[in-house]
Amino acid sequence: MRVGVPKEIKVHEYRVGLTPEAAREYVAAGHEVLIEAGAGTGISAPDAAYEAAGARIVGHAAEVFASADMIVKVKEPQLTEWGQLREGQILFTYLHLAPDPKQTAGLVQSGVTAIAYETVTDRFGGLPLLAPMSEVAGRLAIEAAGVSLKRHAGGRGILIGGVPGVPPARIVVIGGGVVGTHAARMAAGLGADVVIIDRSLQRLRQLDELFGGRVRTRFSTLHAIEEEVVAADVVIGAVLIPGAAAPRLVSRTQLSRMKRGAVLVDVAIDQGGCFETSRPTTHADPTFEVDGVIHYCVANMPGAVPLTSSYALNNATLPFGLALAAKGLDAIRSDPHLAAGLNVHRGQITNEPVAASLRSPC
Ligand code: NAD
Repeated sequence: MRVGVPKEIKVHEYRVGLTPEAAREYVAAGHEVLIEAGAGTGISAPDAAYEAAGARIVGHAAEVFASADMIVKVKEPQLTEWGQLREGQILFTYLHLAPDPKQTAGLVQSGVTAIAYETVTDRFGGLPLLAPMSEVAGRLAIEAAGVSLKRHAGGRGILIGGVPGVPPARIVVIGGGVVGTHAARMAAGLGADVVIIDRSLQRLRQLDELFGGRVRTRFSTLHAIEEEVVAADVVIGAVLIPGAAAPRLVSRTQLSRMKRGAVLVDVAIDQGGCFETSRPTTHADPTFEVDGVIHYCVANMPGAVPLTSSYALNNATLPFGLALAAKGLDAIRSDPHLAAGLNVHRGQITNEPVAASLRSPC
């Protein structure tokens, strides 16, 4: 199969669909790999590194889209990319279609077979291609909170870990999955006072074991969320209902009762966000303020650390990508976990939670 990797064009997105090491694996498996010139610049991988791996460098994205049987990307295709996709072509990338009817319409119209990293499953009930980016985003969330808490950034001027004799920041993590666990790990490591809220009792039990009492856990109720949020210095939004738009868990009214200079980091913004006042931001202008509360809502957080993120992503996507390259659509037919990733196929939305979300306004 001919596998094509265009350079990412989303604002401040420096990751790349295939690292040179991954490209080498495709070439070794007998595939042809086309890389747009400069696609690896953001991870310090020059074109020569891809050529050494056996890939061919092409000058323009249009050439990649026109001749590849499968496009491997990182972020959802942008407006200028939708029209270059076509029926019979496979698109393997993050899509996050539920909150994005325009992109969905673009993909449906193109006829492409689009497999979303974020809805591919594994036999443990997890999301193996979302997990590496969630690990990165969870860890980054605490770094982002630390920056925004500083006084000159509009924050409360509180040091996350405090110092002996002065209490640390209170950090509330809503959603104790991959993002939430990694955020809590970083926050606890810095010495913060951390609570994780989740609606899964089973997950709360696991987290209690994992953190050995260092982090408090609370079952997710309207009351628990309200009580913790109004007392928080930082709230991390890390919930997920796979494929669906994020539930809105913190209202504008509750926000108005929060401390001035507190920080919300809505990691779930790529699924629409879990705070009523959230709207997507970019790395170029990551925060905004509502009622004195700083909101950080960057939809592609791992893009800030593209080197770590691209390698972490490729570690997870490689086996699935190689299966698609070897077997084409048969790879989807023979693997229910890859089939769960199929979001759009020949003009139809094929993922029920995505379709349901798009039917009801989020
Ligand atoms: P996950 O499935 O591992 O965890 C989600 C958790 O949310 C689960 O434990 C679930 O029980 C919990 N949950 C669901 N509804 C809840 C509720 N009402 N109250 C409390 N908990 C609830 O998912 P994840 O991999 O941790 O991803 C979390 C979110 O972060 C997703 O929206 C994902 O797309 C997003 N994400 C964003 C970025 C970014 O750059 N902004 C990067 C990676 C992941």
